[in-house]
Amino acid sequence: MNEASTAADRTLGDRAAGDNSTLAYDVERVRADFPILTREVFGHPLVYLDSAASAQKPRQVLDAMRDAYETHYSNVHRGVHRMSQLATDAFEGGREKVARFINAGSPDEIVFTRNATEALNLVADCFGRAFMKAGDEVIISTLEHHSNIVPWQLLRDRIGIVLRVAPIDDAGNFLLDDFEALIGPRTRLVAMTHVSNALGTIVPIKEVIARAHARGVAVLVDGSQAAPHMTIDVQDLDADFYAFTGHKVYGPTGIGVLYGKRERLNALPPYQGGGEMIASVTFEKSEFKDAPHRFEAGTPAIVEAIGLGAALDYVEGLGRETIAAHESGILAYATARLGQVPGLTIIGTAREKASIVSFTMACAHSHDIGTIVDRTGVALRTGHHCAQPLLQRLGLTATARASFGIYNTREEVDVLVEALGTVTEIFG
Ligand SMILES: *Cc1c(COP(=O)(O)O)cnc(C)c1O
Repeated sequence: MNEASTAADRTLGDRAAGDNSTLAYDVERVRADFPILTREVFGHPLVYLDSAASAQKPRQVLDAMRDAYETHYSNVHRGVHRMSQLATDAFEGGREKVARFINAGSPDEIVFTRNATEALNLVADCFGRAFMKAGDEVIISTLEHHSNIVPWQLLRDRIGIVLRVAPIDDAGNFLLDDFEALIGPRTRLVAMTHVSNALGTIVPIKEVIARAHARGVAVLVDGSQAAPHMTIDVQDLDADFYAFTGHKVYGPTGIGVLYGKRERLNALPPYQGGGEMIASVTFEKSEFKDAPHRFEAGTPAIVEAIGLGAALDYVEGLGRETIAAHESGILAYATARLGQVPGLTIIGTAREKASIVSFTMACAHSHDIGTIVDRTGVALRTGHHCAQPLLQRLGLTATARASFGIYNTREEVDVLVEALGTVTEIFG
């Protein structure tokens, strides 16, 4: 390495420097950290445009996980022996990194779950049991992923809550005033996505929270698509709960995060019962620990927590302002280039967007688009993107979606556009 050593190197070496957005972004240096990006698909370089479904993993994450298994692996929290102490320190270190990443007040406000889905189910189940009864209302939005719809329907079927849905306009913009008009005396919780996985719309979540709080209503944010793309400060947002998933932020699968304000978490009953979450057990009765351990029954995803910590170190090393600038450049470029493809319609043109572009083509079904571009190495997602009600709202059943991450380039957008030319040739 030479003077072209990147923002990653410098800030990784000097954490006190924090986000360092003025340094140039060296995407080739970032790509070199991702072993999978060197492989070919059908004889073409892999062009991975599906990070919104799951992001690839840098060597730093893979190394941290291998190192954990090879040098300091044991179960956590129970042993006096050296390996258990080292494993516990590394696991709890992962929790501290998550707390820092979203600026939580304390690591005790970070609950590890399997994924974002489990974090959302946890709140639906525990908050529902503690604070809701028949006729109480939960507000979600049209933009939600199924993971933030179905848990509330299950709760509705169990105890008779009412689900209200905040609307969007045809471009996919969230309508703040229409949302506010839904808040009523029976509203107990707002559960809302920060960024739409299908359209890329960024919801003005800080304002959503402010308006909900003004009416005394708590807010759960689904940050699964925000965590990879933007700086998140749960204290500044004043979120009551904030969920995200490890594998979309360049970490491993099998681990997700539920942030909750300490008093919010400790007001909830346990989610599952078992080891690790109890203070004492007799056959008559159990006493539960405080958060976060109250919500972490059983052996947790130890090495995945360590890997997630490494992923967050990596992202912070690049600098989230720097990442956002890189990705918004790609988004603007992709939007312009795709907009020139004959017969292509971009779905979702909200004013504030993360680096996600959904589209349809007049000549071909999205599944055919995905299949054809795959032959030239381009990985696109096609279908309903786990947001069927949103697509119904837009009069669609499926789109093709390109989503861009820290390793994507403008040249890859060009490869996509060229591959879409083949789709037009075949179907057009
Ligand atoms: C991916 C995603 C989820 C679910 O994440 P899992 O890791 O599958 O639990 C929830 N909400 C949004 C907005 C997502 O993009």
